[in-house]
Amino acid sequence: MTAKAAPTTTHTTVVRAEGVHKSYGPVEVLKGIDLEVAPGEVMCLVGPSGSGKSTFLRCINHLETVDAGRLYVRDELVGYEERGGRLHVLRDTDIARQRRGVGMVFQRFNLFPHMTALENITEAPVQVKKEPKAEARRHAEELLERVGLADKAHHYPSQLSGGQQQRVAIARALAMRPELMLFDEPTSALDPELVGEVLDVMRGLARDGMTMIVVTHEMGFAREVGDTLVFMDGGVVVESGTPADVLGAPRHERTRAFLSKVL
Ligand code: ADP
Ligand code: MG
Repeated sequence: MTAKAAPTTTHTTVVRAEGVHKSYGPVEVLKGIDLEVAPGEVMCLVGPSGSGKSTFLRCINHLETVDAGRLYVRDELVGYEERGGRLHVLRDTDIARQRRGVGMVFQRFNLFPHMTALENITEAPVQVKKEPKAEARRHAEELLERVGLADKAHHYPSQLSGGQQQRVAIARALAMRPELMLFDEPTSALDPELVGEVLDVMRGLARDGMTMIVVTHEMGFAREVGDTLVFMDGGVVVESGTPADVLGAPRHERTRAFLSKVL
Protein backbone atom coordinates (compact mmCIF):
# COMPACT_ATOMS: atom_id res chain seq x y z
CA MET A 1 0.00 0.00 0.00
CA THR A 2 1.25 3.47 -0.79
CA ALA A 3 0.24 6.40 1.30
CA LYS A 4 -0.61 8.76 -1.48
CA ALA A 5 -2.56 6.62 -3.90
CA ALA A 6 -6.15 7.75 -3.60
CA PRO A 7 -8.24 4.69 -2.92
CA THR A 8 -10.39 3.95 -5.95
CA THR A 9 -12.22 0.82 -4.88
CA THR A 10 -15.62 0.83 -3.27
CA HIS A 11 -14.99 0.83 0.43
CA THR A 12 -16.74 -1.40 2.83
CA THR A 13 -15.54 0.59 5.81
CA VAL A 14 -14.83 4.25 6.39
CA VAL A 15 -13.20 3.61 9.76
CA ARG A 16 -11.65 0.37 10.92
CA ALA A 17 -10.00 0.05 14.31
CA GLU A 18 -8.11 -3.10 15.17
CA GLY A 19 -6.81 -3.43 18.70
CA VAL A 20 -6.16 0.28 19.12
CA HIS A 21 -4.16 1.09 22.23
CA LYS A 22 -3.23 4.48 23.57
CA SER A 23 -1.49 5.48 26.78
CA TYR A 24 -0.64 8.80 28.33
CA GLY A 25 2.51 8.02 30.26
CA PRO A 26 1.73 5.06 32.50
CA VAL A 27 -2.02 5.42 32.06
CA GLU A 28 -3.55 3.22 29.42
CA VAL A 29 -6.58 5.05 28.11
CA LEU A 30 -7.52 2.87 25.13
CA LYS A 31 -7.08 -0.84 25.81
CA GLY A 32 -7.71 -2.42 22.45
CA ILE A 33 -10.56 -0.83 20.53
CA ASP A 34 -12.04 -2.84 17.66
CA LEU A 35 -14.79 -1.36 15.57
CA GLU A 36 -15.89 -0.63 12.04
CA VAL A 37 -17.93 2.16 10.56
CA ALA A 38 -19.57 1.58 7.18
CA PRO A 39 -20.17 4.28 4.57
CA GLY A 40 -23.22 6.34 5.50
CA GLU A 41 -23.35 4.88 9.00
CA VAL A 42 -24.08 7.02 12.03
CA MET A 43 -22.29 5.55 15.03
CA CYS A 44 -23.11 7.00 18.41
CA LEU A 45 -20.40 6.56 21.00
CA VAL A 46 -21.48 6.75 24.61
CA GLY A 47 -19.86 6.06 27.94
CA PRO A 48 -18.87 7.62 31.23
CA SER A 49 -16.50 10.53 31.45
CA GLY A 50 -12.90 9.37 31.16
CA SER A 51 -13.71 6.20 29.22
CA GLY A 52 -11.57 7.28 26.25
CA LYS A 53 -14.18 8.52 23.78
CA SER A 54 -12.45 11.81 22.96
CA THR A 55 -9.09 10.11 22.80
CA PHE A 56 -10.43 7.64 20.27
CA LEU A 57 -11.85 10.42 18.08
CA ARG A 58 -8.56 12.26 18.32
CA CYS A 59 -6.72 9.15 17.14
CA ILE A 60 -8.98 8.90 14.09
CA ASN A 61 -8.02 12.46 13.20
CA HIS A 62 -4.39 11.80 14.09
CA LEU A 63 -4.43 14.50 16.74
CA GLU A 64 -3.04 11.64 18.83
CA THR A 65 -0.88 8.76 17.69
CA VAL A 66 -1.85 5.19 18.34
CA ASP A 67 0.62 3.13 20.42
CA ALA A 68 -0.43 -0.28 19.16
CA GLY A 69 -3.02 -1.73 16.82
CA ARG A 70 -4.17 -0.40 13.49
CA LEU A 71 -6.49 2.41 12.62
CA TYR A 72 -7.68 2.86 9.05
CA VAL A 73 -9.74 5.56 7.43
CA ARG A 74 -10.89 4.58 3.95
CA ASP A 75 -8.44 1.68 3.97
CA GLU A 76 -5.50 3.99 4.60
CA LEU A 77 -3.56 3.66 7.82
CA VAL A 78 -3.89 6.88 9.80
CA GLY A 79 -0.54 8.60 10.19
CA TYR A 80 1.58 5.72 8.94
CA GLU A 81 2.38 3.75 5.88
CA GLU A 82 3.39 0.16 5.78
CA ARG A 83 6.53 -0.70 3.82
CA GLY A 84 8.30 -4.01 4.04
CA GLY A 85 6.21 -5.11 6.98
CA ARG A 86 7.10 -2.03 8.99
CA LEU A 87 5.21 1.10 9.84
CA HIS A 88 6.75 4.40 8.85
CA VAL A 89 5.43 7.74 10.03
CA LEU A 90 3.86 9.67 7.18
CA ARG A 91 5.20 13.00 6.06
CA ASP A 92 3.41 16.07 7.42
CA THR A 93 1.87 16.80 4.02
CA ASP A 94 0.34 13.33 3.90
CA ILE A 95 -0.94 13.62 7.45
CA ALA A 96 -2.48 16.98 6.56
CA ARG A 97 -4.11 15.43 3.50
CA GLN A 98 -5.58 12.61 5.61
CA ARG A 99 -6.86 15.07 8.15
CA ARG A 100 -8.64 17.12 5.52
CA GLY A 101 -10.87 14.16 4.79
CA VAL A 102 -12.19 14.12 8.34
CA GLY A 103 -14.30 16.94 9.76
CA MET A 104 -14.36 17.44 13.50
CA VAL A 105 -16.79 19.37 15.66
CA PHE A 106 -15.97 19.85 19.33
CA GLN A 107 -17.96 20.71 22.40
CA ARG A 108 -16.62 24.25 22.22
CA PHE A 109 -17.20 25.95 18.94
CA ASN A 110 -13.68 27.28 18.41
CA LEU A 111 -14.67 29.78 15.75
CA PHE A 112 -12.18 32.50 14.88
CA PRO A 113 -13.62 35.47 16.83
CA HIS A 114 -12.32 38.13 14.45
CA MET A 115 -13.91 36.56 11.37
CA THR A 116 -17.51 36.55 10.22
CA ALA A 117 -19.43 33.31 9.87
CA LEU A 118 -18.72 33.31 6.14
CA GLU A 119 -15.01 34.02 6.62
CA ASN A 120 -14.76 31.25 9.22
CA ILE A 121 -16.13 28.84 6.66
CA THR A 122 -14.01 29.93 3.70
CA GLU A 123 -10.74 30.18 5.64
CA ALA A 124 -9.53 26.59 5.38
CA PRO A 125 -10.74 25.89 1.82
CA VAL A 126 -8.92 29.00 0.59
CA GLN A 127 -5.79 28.81 2.78
CA VAL A 128 -5.31 25.07 3.01
CA LYS A 129 -6.98 23.68 -0.08
CA LYS A 130 -6.22 26.69 -2.29
CA GLU A 131 -9.79 26.83 -3.52
CA PRO A 132 -10.58 29.96 -5.57
CA LYS A 133 -12.16 32.54 -3.27
CA ALA A 134 -15.33 32.90 -5.33
CA GLU A 135 -15.93 29.18 -5.28
CA ALA A 136 -15.22 28.88 -1.55
CA ARG A 137 -17.65 31.71 -0.95
CA ARG A 138 -20.37 30.14 -3.07
CA HIS A 139 -19.92 26.85 -1.22
CA ALA A 140 -19.95 28.63 2.16
CA GLU A 141 -23.23 30.33 1.29
CA GLU A 142 -24.70 26.99 0.34
CA LEU A 143 -23.51 25.50 3.65
CA LEU A 144 -24.89 28.40 5.67
CA GLU A 145 -28.21 27.79 3.96
CA ARG A 146 -27.96 24.11 4.85
CA VAL A 147 -27.44 24.85 8.55
CA GLY A 148 -30.22 27.43 8.50
CA LEU A 149 -28.03 30.51 8.84
CA ALA A 150 -28.12 32.09 5.38
CA ASP A 151 -28.99 35.44 6.97
CA LYS A 152 -26.04 35.35 9.38
CA ALA A 153 -23.17 35.22 6.88
CA HIS A 154 -21.73 38.55 7.97
CA HIS A 155 -22.22 38.14 11.70
CA TYR A 156 -19.26 37.65 14.02
CA PRO A 157 -19.30 34.75 16.51
CA SER A 158 -19.98 37.14 19.41
CA GLN A 159 -23.19 38.18 17.63
CA LEU A 160 -24.43 34.58 17.42
CA SER A 161 -25.98 32.28 20.01
CA GLY A 162 -24.13 29.14 21.06
CA GLY A 163 -26.38 27.02 18.88
CA GLN A 164 -25.78 29.28 15.89
CA GLN A 165 -22.03 29.22 16.50
CA GLN A 166 -22.06 25.44 16.65
CA ARG A 167 -23.98 25.32 13.36
CA VAL A 168 -21.34 27.58 11.79
CA ALA A 169 -18.69 25.20 13.17
CA ILE A 170 -20.45 22.32 11.43
CA ALA A 171 -20.62 24.29 8.17
CA ARG A 172 -16.93 25.10 8.55
CA ALA A 173 -16.05 21.43 8.88
CA LEU A 174 -18.23 20.57 5.88
CA ALA A 175 -16.49 23.20 3.78
CA MET A 176 -13.52 20.84 3.43
CA ARG A 177 -15.85 18.25 1.86
CA PRO A 178 -14.98 15.55 4.41
CA GLU A 179 -15.98 11.96 3.90
CA LEU A 180 -16.31 11.44 7.64
CA MET A 181 -17.55 13.73 10.39
CA LEU A 182 -16.57 13.34 14.04
CA PHE A 183 -18.65 15.05 16.70
CA ASP A 184 -17.37 15.22 20.27
CA GLU A 185 -20.28 16.12 22.52
CA PRO A 186 -21.40 18.87 20.15
CA THR A 187 -24.34 19.94 22.28
CA SER A 188 -22.91 19.54 25.78
CA ALA A 189 -21.92 23.17 26.15
CA LEU A 190 -25.24 24.53 24.91
CA ASP A 191 -28.19 25.87 26.83
CA PRO A 192 -30.93 23.23 26.66
CA GLU A 193 -33.16 25.28 24.37
CA LEU A 194 -30.37 25.45 21.74
CA VAL A 195 -29.61 21.74 21.60
CA GLY A 196 -32.43 20.89 19.20
CA GLU A 197 -31.31 23.18 16.38
CA VAL A 198 -27.85 21.59 16.33
CA LEU A 199 -29.21 18.05 16.47
CA ASP A 200 -31.56 18.97 13.59
CA VAL A 201 -28.58 19.91 11.44
CA MET A 202 -26.84 16.65 12.35
CA ARG A 203 -30.01 14.71 11.58
CA GLY A 204 -30.07 16.36 8.14
CA LEU A 205 -26.45 15.40 7.53
CA ALA A 206 -27.21 11.81 8.47
CA ARG A 207 -30.19 11.80 6.11
CA ASP A 208 -27.93 13.03 3.31
CA GLY A 209 -25.70 10.01 3.84
CA MET A 210 -22.75 11.49 5.75
CA THR A 211 -20.71 8.95 7.69
CA MET A 212 -20.59 10.14 11.29
CA ILE A 213 -19.24 9.18 14.68
CA VAL A 214 -21.05 11.09 17.37
CA VAL A 215 -20.00 11.15 21.01
CA THR A 216 -23.13 12.24 22.80
CA HIS A 217 -25.28 11.93 25.88
CA GLU A 218 -28.38 12.66 23.80
CA MET A 219 -29.94 9.21 23.91
CA GLY A 220 -33.03 10.39 22.03
CA PHE A 221 -30.80 11.40 19.13
CA ALA A 222 -28.86 8.14 19.35
CA ARG A 223 -32.06 6.11 19.27
CA GLU A 224 -33.58 8.03 16.40
CA VAL A 225 -30.59 8.80 14.16
CA GLY A 226 -27.92 6.26 15.13
CA ASP A 227 -27.43 3.09 13.14
CA THR A 228 -25.09 1.75 15.79
CA LEU A 229 -24.64 2.50 19.46
CA VAL A 230 -21.27 1.72 20.99
CA PHE A 231 -20.88 1.74 24.75
CA MET A 232 -17.32 2.35 25.95
CA ASP A 233 -16.07 2.11 29.49
CA GLY A 234 -12.52 2.06 30.84
CA GLY A 235 -10.92 2.16 27.40
CA VAL A 236 -12.76 -0.81 25.91
CA VAL A 237 -15.92 -1.32 23.90
CA VAL A 238 -18.20 -3.03 26.36
CA GLU A 239 -20.98 -3.63 23.88
CA SER A 240 -22.40 -2.39 20.62
CA GLY A 241 -25.45 -2.97 18.51
CA THR A 242 -28.47 -1.15 17.20
CA PRO A 243 -29.57 1.65 19.53
CA ALA A 244 -32.86 -0.16 20.07
CA ASP A 245 -31.03 -3.29 21.25
CA VAL A 246 -28.41 -1.63 23.41
CA LEU A 247 -30.81 0.84 25.00
CA GLY A 248 -33.69 -1.59 25.24
CA ALA A 249 -31.83 -4.69 26.36
CA PRO A 250 -28.27 -3.94 27.48
CA ARG A 251 -26.32 -7.15 27.93
CA HIS A 252 -23.75 -5.93 30.41
CA GLU A 253 -24.12 -4.65 33.91
CA ARG A 254 -21.80 -1.72 33.21
CA THR A 255 -24.02 -0.64 30.31
CA ARG A 256 -27.13 -0.94 32.46
CA ALA A 257 -25.55 1.11 35.24
CA PHE A 258 -24.54 3.85 32.82
CA LEU A 259 -27.88 3.97 31.05
CA SER A 260 -29.78 4.14 34.29
CA LYS A 261 -27.94 7.38 35.00
CA VAL A 262 -28.41 9.06 31.62
CA LEU A 263 -31.85 7.88 30.51
P1 ADP B 1 -13.86 10.79 27.55
O1 ADP B 1 -13.88 11.61 26.31
O2 ADP B 1 -14.55 9.47 27.40
O3 ADP B 1 -14.39 11.53 28.74
P2 ADP B 1 -10.99 11.06 27.36
O4 ADP B 1 -10.61 10.36 26.11
O5 ADP B 1 -11.07 12.53 27.32
O6 ADP B 1 -12.36 10.42 27.89
O7 ADP B 1 -9.99 10.70 28.52
C1 ADP B 1 -9.69 9.37 28.90
C2 ADP B 1 -8.63 9.41 29.97
O8 ADP B 1 -7.42 9.88 29.42
C3 ADP B 1 -8.96 10.30 31.14
O9 ADP B 1 -8.56 9.65 32.31
C4 ADP B 1 -8.12 11.52 30.89
O10 ADP B 1 -7.76 12.13 32.10
C5 ADP B 1 -6.91 10.96 30.17
N1 ADP B 1 -6.32 11.93 29.22
C6 ADP B 1 -6.94 12.45 28.16
N2 ADP B 1 -6.10 13.27 27.47
C7 ADP B 1 -4.93 13.24 28.13
C8 ADP B 1 -3.63 13.87 27.93
N3 ADP B 1 -3.42 14.68 26.89
N4 ADP B 1 -2.66 13.60 28.82
C9 ADP B 1 -2.88 12.77 29.85
N5 ADP B 1 -4.06 12.15 30.11
C10 ADP B 1 -5.06 12.37 29.27
MG1 MG C 1 -14.61 13.52 25.97
